[in-house]
Amino acid sequence: MNIQTPWSDRAKVLSLNSHAFIDGRFVEAASGKTFDTINPATNARLASVAECDKADVDLAVAAARRAFEAGTWSRRAPSERKAVLLRLADLIRANLDDLALMESLDTGKPISNALSADVPLSANTFQWYAEAIDKVYDEIAPADPGNLALIRRDAMGVVACVVPWNYPLLMASWKIAPALAAGNSVILKPAEQSPLTALRLAELAAEVGLPEGVLNVLPGYGETVGQALGRHMDVDCLAFTGSTEVGKYFLKYSAESNMKPAWLECGGKSPNLVFADCDDLEAAAEAAAFGIWYDQGEVCTANSRLLVEESIKDRFLDLLKAKARDWQPGDPLNPSTTMGAIVEARQTERILSYIEKGKQSARLIEGGQQKTLGGSSNFITPTIFDAVTNDMTIAQEEIFGPVLSVISFKTEEEAVKIANGSIYGLAASVWSNNLKRVMRLSDSIRTGTLSVNCMDANANTVPFGGVRQSGIGRDQSLHAFDKYTNLKTVWIKF
Ligand code: NAP
Ligand code: MG
Repeated sequence: MNIQTPWSDRAKVLSLNSHAFIDGRFVEAASGKTFDTINPATNARLASVAECDKADVDLAVAAARRAFEAGTWSRRAPSERKAVLLRLADLIRANLDDLALMESLDTGKPISNALSADVPLSANTFQWYAEAIDKVYDEIAPADPGNLALIRRDAMGVVACVVPWNYPLLMASWKIAPALAAGNSVILKPAEQSPLTALRLAELAAEVGLPEGVLNVLPGYGETVGQALGRHMDVDCLAFTGSTEVGKYFLKYSAESNMKPAWLECGGKSPNLVFADCDDLEAAAEAAAFGIWYDQGEVCTANSRLLVEESIKDRFLDLLKAKARDWQPGDPLNPSTTMGAIVEARQTERILSYIEKGKQSARLIEGGQQKTLGGSSNFITPTIFDAVTNDMTIAQEEIFGPVLSVISFKTEEEAVKIANGSIYGLAASVWSNNLKRVMRLSDSIRTGTLSVNCMDANANTVPFGGVRQSGIGRDQSLHAFDKYTNLKTVWIKF
């Protein structure tokens, strides 16, 4: 640390939005209150941001509803909506450096990750859904002569999106892009730890001509803003990414208000199965390291359980431990840093307490240390526990940090049983050169995504989401439109 990189110089002059964005204007919270957003890599305050609550939610929902009813966006020609969202994708790309720097400062993630993934993937998402707008057709159903049966997809109305801090801009984009493309009005609540890029996105959206009220951004706390959105009688749809615990609240909010659909992308404890017939253990080890240490392991699809066939376990763990050298925590603003700061002190404590629990039941073979860098102690070294059994806390609970639990198996059957022995089912990986085995596993592993001989397979073109307590519904791909549109049958007799 203390090395003055160009990024740290740029951080000093970076302008940050701190007001809520309601009905096309940046405004203070109705209460006048603010909260601080902190850089976890230094513990310095970045900005005091408007702390919205129920009163601001009411204003934003009313604005979103007015815009929807007025049709300034919802009834605009598809080609025009497409042009606006394509301009937004371009403008995100033009602001790559600022957005990436903001994301790194706000969350502690390495600037290189934000530059190579968070921001460009967000732009790609807007582009992909923009291009879909004038290419997705409705349906005509078979009907008797003299009848025309139309199956239309109608925008739902007001969509509220509540997102976490690990991919603030990208998770927002995964929700907002298809919701807007379908013609809805949107209200976004970013996580309290990471409101900055969401507010900049609102500014960029206004700049490209998204009409007022169509996108609103309300920084604030989950218990106030998140809950008020969840319970609002005039919100038509909820799209959430975050923990399973909070996801369940949204089901309750919906049940206790207007029965709006609540789409949930929640937690995971994803298994990575490495079989002795994998023909490239080096690549598998590289991927296993990436799968748990990229973005400090604060990734919902983190492959946090390594299931490795007993006969190759020692060899594989040697390869993996050697990789830990490449993932030592450092200054997020140093472009060569691969692992940055944990998002906040509370989360750091949480991870450390899991490491303590792990030490009591399993064998710590790598890392497990807290580091202080640049005046902050939110750094944890890449950690591996061996001799884990699937019933241990560190194999069952989502740690959301750079902590890997290694479980060995003897047979494929046993591996499947362990893989499926979880309340979650978000992602899984398999390393094997045996096609029949791979096909059997693709049947039997309960997961939203299965990556075979690769890690974290994911693209705009394929659905992303989980089964069991990892969630309900899918982001990405044309299937995301299922969340943000209602099917309407129009039957015409002539
Ligand atoms: P979180 O605590 O569940 O928070 C997510 C969002 O919900 C935040 O905006 C939060 O606001 C809000 N919230 C909190 N309590 C609420 C309440 N009572 N009512 C309404 N909203 C509330 O999750 P996190 O700590 O930000 O993120 C980590 C979790 O997200 C992990 O479990 C991870 O697996 C999951 N995740 C899942 C995916 C996926 O796609 N499946 C992707 C990324 C992350 P505050 O800012 O005030 O907390
Ligand atoms: Mg922050």
